Amino acid sequence: MKIDLHSHTKCSDGELSPEELVLRASNKGVDVLAITDHDTVSALEPARDAIIKHKLPLKLVAGVEISTRWHGFEIHVVGLNIDDKQPELVALLTQQQNTRDKRAEKIAAKLARVLPESYGFTAETIMQKVLEKAQGQSISRVHFAKTLLEAGIVDRMQQAFDKYLGRKGKAYAAPEWISVEQAIAAIKAAGGHAVLAHPTRYDLKNKWVRKLVDYFAEHQGDAIEVGLPRQNNNELIQLATYAQQAKLKSSQGSDFHRVSSYTELGSLLPLPEFCEPIWTDWQLVNPA
Ligand code: AMP
Ligand code: MN
Ligand code: MN
Ligand code: MN
Repeated sequence: MKIDLHSHTKCSDGELSPEELVLRASNKGVDVLAITDHDTVSALEPARDAIIKHKLPLKLVAGVEISTRWHGFEIHVVGLNIDDKQPELVALLTQQQNTRDKRAEKIAAKLARVLPESYGFTAETIMQKVLEKAQGQSISRVHFAKTLLEAGIVDRMQQAFDKYLGRKGKAYAAPEWISVEQAIAAIKAAGGHAVLAHPTRYDLKNKWVRKLVDYFAEHQGDAIEVGLPRQNNNELIQLATYAQQAKLKSSQGSDFHRVSSYTELGSLLPLPEFCEPIWTDWQLVNPA
């Protein structure tokens, strides 16, 4: 069974519509797919409709990826099998969207200050381009990165993050995300499982990754992502061992954002035997 518990759509920083995403997942032989957009659940309803419309043999897991702050780092907490209509969760995600909007204004103002004048950008014109890209949905730093790329200010997305948008970038704005434990509590109150996303992809030293995993377990987190996109076996075993030591379950996901050579839906290494997959007691087949 092909299981992918981390993916994005246009409703946040992904490029496919919910319909295109479920069609592609099905095409790639995925049996179980979680859509986990950043701080929004708005892709879930159209994805459900598309699965019915096209009669896809695909089980959709209702998910979300919540941005949090921990010791000055931005840490992502994935919620799986959530009730996406639970009022407290919906209110919390609205608050996170407001935080995104406020952060976007700050980033635009900083960019206008640090970009060479010859590009002719002001905070207003940058915001205009970013809003066009977000199309009324979740505003992401990816939309800023694409704006910089299109203007020829950077050659690659990664460069946009390194030079301007990342933690050490010239236009970085520290957002007021909720805490890790608030995200865990909100996910669990909405009937979901809380999963620490991609622990080894935050640019943290190993000692801090372990601290984060232990912290996640202490605050009633359920699992960590062990299976990640473009992963080598060492990282897989390292994460599986961290999960085992902290008595956490294991999850896996491609973190698919767009069609590229970087990653594909459902394309993951198998979890090591000693892991306890998060889905072992889930109902994985759609009732007929
Ligand atoms: P945001 O959620 O608005 O803070 O944007 C973060 C998103 O940017 C991540 O979910 C990734 O999809 C994307 N991204 C791409 N490259 C980087 C990078 N070097 N650092 C941080 N985020 C990146
Ligand atoms: Mn993303
Ligand atoms: Mn993430
Ligand atoms: Mn993600």
